[in-house]
Amino acid sequence: MTTVIDGKAVAASVIETVKSATRALEAEAGVRAGLAVVIVGDDPASHAYVSAKSKMAKECGFLSVQHTLPTETTQEELAALVGELNADPSIHGILVQLPLPKHLHSESIIQSILPEKDVDGLHIVNAGKVATGDLEGGLVSCTPAGAMVFVRRTHGEDLSGLNAVVIGRSNLFGKPMSALLLAANATVTTAHSRTRDLPAVCRKADILVAAVGRPEMVKADWVKPGAMVIDVGINRVPAPERGEGKTKLVGDVAFDECAEVASVITPVPGGVGPMTIAMLMANTIIAAHRKAGRKPPKF
Ligand code: NAP
Repeated sequence: MTTVIDGKAVAASVIETVKSATRALEAEAGVRAGLAVVIVGDDPASHAYVSAKSKMAKECGFLSVQHTLPTETTQEELAALVGELNADPSIHGILVQLPLPKHLHSESIIQSILPEKDVDGLHIVNAGKVATGDLEGGLVSCTPAGAMVFVRRTHGEDLSGLNAVVIGRSNLFGKPMSALLLAANATVTTAHSRTRDLPAVCRKADILVAAVGRPEMVKADWVKPGAMVIDVGINRVPAPERGEGKTKLVGDVAFDECAEVASVITPVPGGVGPMTIAMLMANTIIAAHRKAGRKPPKF
């Protein structure tokens, strides 16, 4: 029997932990966790993401602050806002929604966020801590952090003796995911577009993670029988069976055929996706606990 991970249910359990840690922080230390979300411009998709994040932050009991800036905002204005949020003791987490309008230089804005408030885990200090295996001191990028919750709930904390293959080597996902698996003692291969005989590499994986952006690339004969398969890809493809001009979301894994071979698999949508926002809340409450000198909750 294959287990299909219910990402929404796992994300809901993460949110429950965040809520109780938020209540404890307020009751025992008199501190309310605060998350500031900054959005520049009027991209509808970005606005939808930001309002989902702000709404979830309120639900968690955080002070939730949203800064909506016009497209014409200058680099200096945005940098000044980040500076104010860095200095604001009521704000424990800062998220600048990407992509920024083209005239703004996102990298320097992201790097100007204080690492201890960088709840997206994109600051070079946080990336460096993940790369060096210092998982207690930094903040881990949300999507790999969420995928690791699935891994821990399936295999426990220690992955000794297990082979893991991550397809994709982006800074956002592939590299931190590989580092997290390695820190948990898995034997890790990071595959990418130049990897020779990718199906054979994947067939060695007890844990196979796909983060490529190519619809249903991973086929059943790439999957080791009994493996855990985590699909990070989000691809919109035509779905004429749903009506003319209709589309649907699929992952990087051919779900139906791979589910027949894997022992545990994540669907798209409803797998890794819901975890990203939940881990943003987790990072905010971790940051708030650390700032108050308290041990943060584990996820
Ligand atoms: P990315 O920066 O475009 O990286 C894609 C990676 O896939 C690259 O390392 C690339 O290799 C590799 N690749 C491309 N074609 C390949 C092939 N034919 N065989 C093997 N490897 C190949 O993408 P990303 O930001 O990591 O995101 C990957 C996917 O995850 C996207 O679909 C994205 O939408 C999704 N995603 C989802 C979430 C979520 O919340 N669920 C979050 C982040 C990303 P090279 O380095 O050699 O070019």
